[in-house]
Amino acid sequence: MKKIRYFDRNQEILMDKDKRIKTFDEYALGYTINLAIDESKRCILCKDADKRCIKGCPIHVDIPGFISKIAEGKILESYEIITKTDIFPSICGRVCPQERQCEGACILYFDTVRNKRNKGLPVSIGALEKFVGDVVRIYGIEPAIEVEEKKGYKVAIVGSGPASLGCAYELAKKGIDVEVFEALPRLGGVMFYGIPNARLDKSIIEYEIGKLKKMGVVFHTGVIVGRTIMLEDLKQNYDAVFIGIGAGRGTLGIKGDNLINVFSAIEFLMSIAVELPITNIKKIAIIGGGFTAVDCAISAIRLGIETNVIYRRTRETSSARDEEWDHIKEEGAIIHWLTQPKEIIGDENGYVKGLRCVKMELGDIDESGRPKPIEVPNSEFFIECDAVVLAIGQRPNPIAFESIGLKTSKWGTLEVDENFMCSVEGIFASGDAVNGGDTVVRALKEGKEAGNKIYDYLMNKSRR
Ligand code: FAD
Ligand code: SF4
Repeated sequence: MKKIRYFDRNQEILMDKDKRIKTFDEYALGYTINLAIDESKRCILCKDADKRCIKGCPIHVDIPGFISKIAEGKILESYEIITKTDIFPSICGRVCPQERQCEGACILYFDTVRNKRNKGLPVSIGALEKFVGDVVRIYGIEPAIEVEEKKGYKVAIVGSGPASLGCAYELAKKGIDVEVFEALPRLGGVMFYGIPNARLDKSIIEYEIGKLKKMGVVFHTGVIVGRTIMLEDLKQNYDAVFIGIGAGRGTLGIKGDNLINVFSAIEFLMSIAVELPITNIKKIAIIGGGFTAVDCAISAIRLGIETNVIYRRTRETSSARDEEWDHIKEEGAIIHWLTQPKEIIGDENGYVKGLRCVKMELGDIDESGRPKPIEVPNSEFFIECDAVVLAIGQRPNPIAFESIGLKTSKWGTLEVDENFMCSVEGIFASGDAVNGGDTVVRALKEGKEAGNKIYDYLMNKSRR
């Protein structure tokens, strides 16, 4: 009989490649209890984990603590340890770029204290975290979240991505009334509209948001702040406002970007998320090298489109997860490293017909801390395609705050002080809207921190 089990480097069960390219169902199927216990026993429970994996995790999950409980088969206790800091283990376990965070700092792989590479594979911290979150969710054994008595304040939150959800969680837990205003019909921000179901099943996001609803957080969808309702109104009617609008506006800026079948990444992914797939495309060129580009590739492949990814740097300097590059390559994506698109070429009817590119090589370190790509002379070539996705250059959409004139940086991100307060008193912000685009876990962390600062602000206000 044909072997049907496939494992990736985490020893998680993976859906077979031929099957997964035809479905948007999740393809990393996770651990069985035995696999999870085996994997957890690989952890040597370093005494100085706070200098290693815990430090590597942006939200400082007690990693040896939760892993040792899995080894003992105490999954609920493991869950309680994780959720002291990370309220969404099923999400972070799936989407965090662990090789650059907790797993990159696992002593089996890299000794961060002695700055030395070791021979082993890191413990699969992310996959174990996902396992714990999934067991608790699937068996419905989640303990109720305790909420303090009401303090008599109310806060409005704009947007429903991880930054907003982290902020809402901290405030609701401390007895503050919270209302969230989301422009789109579904909640979760990029987690819902950007990350394809194949990597993060939408039902998990709904489940996690359900926890906040049980804590009393009220969600309004289809409300565009700056159009349906103004920021000034929120400021007047609430004791504080938090802006977590992300950086979902694509900046295009390449010759030919107005041709028919040129999409921003969010346009492309969103139309798939709401099941309005883009049709009649046979060959696509996706420009970019981060999570967004990889997610566009995963989605295009599943729509049966021949997929090219064009990135001006290398895999090592890209911000997407290593294993996802492996997955899309295995699924048939053609990846053009060190390639810079120069112009999108159209036909006589204004439809995309290809991409004019040049090859690049790496030079000295630039201001981003990475080697600067430099054009190789006389290296021009053409990639034939009938659609282009620009998975580059995201920035916040200023609709929400332009009427009130909040201060922004030269990149269009919101400027905040050390308390996450914007240039107008009582208005706070964090997540991608401030940092310009990073990770789910960082947005969650900064949202939680901003929630705590808003709480302090409200308490100080009551003392005045
Ligand atoms: P967002 O998640 O962008 O949420 C902002 C929300 O605000 C949106 O729902 C938006 O509709 C709403 N909004 C905007 N303007 C208004 C308005 N005027 N009124 C009301 N609502 C408004 N990170 C990872 O860690 N792992 C990954 O695998 C990963 N994959 C990614 C894939 C893609 C395609 C993209 C684009 C990003 C990815 N990221 C990933 C990055 C991560 O998703 C973001 O860093 C994170 O979601 C930012 O959270 P946020 O809460 O700041 O904003
Ligand atoms: Fe690793 Fe992310 Fe979990 Fe932190 S939250 S331990 S970085 S998977």
